[in-house]
Amino acid sequence: VVRDYRAPKDLLKDKIILVTGAGDGIGKTAAKTFAAHGATVILLGRTTPKLEAVYDEIEAAGGPQPAIFPMDLNEARIENFEHFAEAVDQEFGRLDGLLHNAGLLGQRTPIASYNFATWQQVMQVNVNAAFGLSKTLLPLLENSKAGSIIFTSSGVGLKGRAYWGAYSVSKFATEGLMQVLADELDGVSSIRVNSINPGATRTNMRAAAYPAENPQTVATPEEIMPTYLYLMGEDSLGVSGKQFNAQTK
Ligand code: NDP
Repeated sequence: VVRDYRAPKDLLKDKIILVTGAGDGIGKTAAKTFAAHGATVILLGRTTPKLEAVYDEIEAAGGPQPAIFPMDLNEARIENFEHFAEAVDQEFGRLDGLLHNAGLLGQRTPIASYNFATWQQVMQVNVNAAFGLSKTLLPLLENSKAGSIIFTSSGVGLKGRAYWGAYSVSKFATEGLMQVLADELDGVSSIRVNSINPGATRTNMRAAAYPAENPQTVATPEEIMPTYLYLMGEDSLGVSGKQFNAQTK
């Protein structure tokens, strides 16, 4: 059972792994967890002080020195992704793992009153940026022995739900992007492509979506890490095109 996976301490030794939205929430914990298992992590996000704090925590814990790359995915254009890929190429020459984690909740409101600009932002950050990064980083993932791409989906990305608007639609699109890319790479590449539905997890986004909920009743980001480690490490070699739920069997 993947949610009970126990990773060896050196699972990700010498791996270069990019985490988007690495400054807070699930992404922050994923970056620290990957580093604790030996990975050199590239911390991408829009709030530099948050990325610096994660950097400091990883160094203080004795992890490999991370890299920081501030980027606002809402503003990013293809040139920015190309520039980023060049920087990763020059520094590392390859990429072993890519966790698409950054996400925007947007509004919780009926489609009839959904703000058009907010809709575009949510689709930009949750879908278009993940496409742009995947596209430009594929050659570097091909340079890895066994690259792993993880997309982050959601329960509302499998079944639509009232008032979840662009967020729900963006997560359906994320599943689609994962499946299309996995199918394209199947049999012609060693890159595997999967998605994780984290399930209810104690973060700012969850609190914004469920303001009346007691945060102590939902899982911490640490508790959902086994699935992330399984998919980043080589115990998942050959697994591709699948959706994983980090909290259910
Ligand atoms: P948080 O809001 O806590 O963290 C999201 C991260 O994404 C933040 O670090 C944020 O940066 C970053 N981000 C947002 N917009 C941008 C942008 N324009 N450019 C760069 N980075 C950006 O959310 P979670 O940790 O809860 O969510 C992580 C992922 O998990 C998301 O994809 C979410 O949809 C998904 N998910 C979460 C669930 C939950 O219960 N928490 C359930 C199902 C799915 P900053 O800190 O600077 O704002």
